[in-house]
Order: sequence, then C-alpha cells, then structure tokens
Amino acid sequence: MVIVMKPEATEQQLKEVISKIEELGYKPHVIYGATRNVIGAVGDERGKFILQSLEIMDGVEAVIPILKPYKLASKEVKKEKSIIKVGNVSIGGKELIIIAGPCAVENEEQIINTAKAVKSMGAHILRGGAYKPRTSPYSFQGLGEEGLKLLKKAGELSNMPVVTEIVNPEHVDLVCEYVDILQIGTRNCQNFELLKRVGQSRKPVILKRGMAMTIKEWLMSAEYILSEGNMNVILCERGIRTFETATRNTLDLSAIAVLKEETHLPVIVDPSHATGYAKYVPSMAYAAVAAGADGLMIEVHPQPEKAFSDGPQSMNFNSFSKMIEKLRQFASITERT
Ligand code: PEP
Ligand code: MN
Repeated sequence: MVIVMKPEATEQQLKEVISKIEELGYKPHVIYGATRNVIGAVGDERGKFILQSLEIMDGVEAVIPILKPYKLASKEVKKEKSIIKVGNVSIGGKELIIIAGPCAVENEEQIINTAKAVKSMGAHILRGGAYKPRTSPYSFQGLGEEGLKLLKKAGELSNMPVVTEIVNPEHVDLVCEYVDILQIGTRNCQNFELLKRVGQSRKPVILKRGMAMTIKEWLMSAEYILSEGNMNVILCERGIRTFETATRNTLDLSAIAVLKEETHLPVIVDPSHATGYAKYVPSMAYAAVAAGADGLMIEVHPQPEKAFSDGPQSMNFNSFSKMIEKLRQFASITERT
C-alpha cells in the first residue's frame, strides 16, 4: 500500500503514521518528495487491507493499493527517477556513466594500468572481479581478498569508485570494506538469501538480469533488496539466453524501454557479456545510449588475448578510447552529458 501524506502534513504526523504501520506488522519506506511525502508500506500481502484504516489519521490524504507485484521498485510508489550517488558520481541523472575495467583482477599491474587508462579516457567507475562465478570449477576463480585489496588500491590511485561481484552472503561484510558498489551477477539474480543480505547493507547494488529471467522476475529480485531497506539498486541488462548462437547472449534493448515505464531505478547496459565479442560492443553500446540507458558497463583489458577470463569480449585501450569518443555524440543527441 502507498500512504500519501497531505502536502501540509507535519513531521510529527508522518512519524505517527510510520509507527502505526509498524504496529500493524508492516515495513514503512518513506519517499520524500518535492511537494509531499509518501510511505510505501510493504509486508504480508494477505492482510494488507488493514492498512486502509490509516486513512483516518491526521496528515494522511489517501491509502492506495500498489497493483504491481513489485512494490518499492514500481513507479506507483515513486514517479521521479532515482539518482544513486557513489562518491562524486551520480547514476540515473543527466550524465551517462561509464563503468569499465577487466572481467577479473589478475595482478597489481593489470588493474592499476587499466584503472589509469580508462579514467583518462572518461570512465567514472572501475570494475574488476575478485570472486568469479565460472561455469567450470577448473577455470580461474578470482584472487579473492587479495583481488579486493588491489581493486581498492587501483580505485584510490585513479580516483574512481569501484565495483565487484559478490557471490556469497557470508562475504558481504568483507567485500563492503573494500568496494563502493556490490554487483550481483546473472547467475545469482534469484539467489534470494544473497539478495536479502545485500539489502541489509547500505552499499549501492548493481543487479544484473538473470540470463533466463523475465523483466518482471528481475524487478521482483530488485524488490528483495529494496524491501530490506536498501534503496540503492541499479539494474543492468546483460543479455539473455535465446536460440541465437552468433552472440554469447541476446541483448534485450527493449528491456530499457520497458523498465523506464515500470521503475524509477536507474538502468545500465553491459554489451560485453551480452555479445561475447569485443567487435560487437561499440554498436550495442551506442544503441543502449540511444535507447535511454543511464550508463554502460564495459570489459577492458590491457591485453585481451592474455586475459584470464572473458578475453574475447574485452576491449583493448585503443578500441575503448575510440568507442568513448563516438559515444559522446550519442550522449549529446539524447541530451546527456
Ligand atoms: C561479470 O561482470 O564479469 C560477470 C560475470 O557478469 P554476468 O554475471 O553478467 O555474467
Ligand atoms: Mn566477465
């Protein structure tokens, strides 16, 4: 249910409504608006009509059921776009945000060189995996905590926030010590225990779409994080499984259009995992920006042919730099900076 407060409602009236919601066994999430505040009350769907009784409280204008299955993620609760701040970077605003870096942190020289290079070319956030969810248990699994340390160092040296994938709920506290954004990968998009655990942290979360998930299921996964009180969720379209084999996955660009209708959360696109080939990344990056993506996540490696993971889809510094140049034109056509 959404409890819409009157524009003139006082702070005290808001507090009283919040405690009443809690008393009734629901979780209140206050969304502060320019003219009025609203409270999303979420919890057991079965008894939610009890919340209708809040309508008679002072300061309350209306109590409206949220019809969508995803509540806090939906525009029914919040019409304005969410802007997620990480250091001095804002995701979801006018600026097109570029997240770049290698698939995995491999060694100090690799991550630091990549960080400095992509920063000088216009990237805003550094990526690098320390825990890699690989299809084969015999493939490189990531450097673990050592990788986190190197990623943090590279972020500090290049003055960029850093993001890494988290695969285990028990790692949350450790990973949060080193990084600015947590990434949930495609394979874990419906790992509900992991979603709840990152929801309890207050770090922004990039939630990649499950490779066989509908947009609705994806938003329900976002809801798991939001309902724990962490409102800093960024959705990342990274391609889905189809019958097509010419690309690693099929980039679902229409998801951007749908999400812009359905949710206030920022939406970014990862054309590297979507296509699986570096040569296809630029055109899909331009298309994503044209479709309204708030940002891009791009795999970049100093020597893609020597990468421990995802080499074929990783761009080298030269091709990344050329792509960024051209991206600026697409950004300006769509009135982005
Ligand atoms: C990654 O970003 O390196 C990754 C493993 O992505 P995905 O979960 O989209 O496959
Ligand atoms: Mn990868």
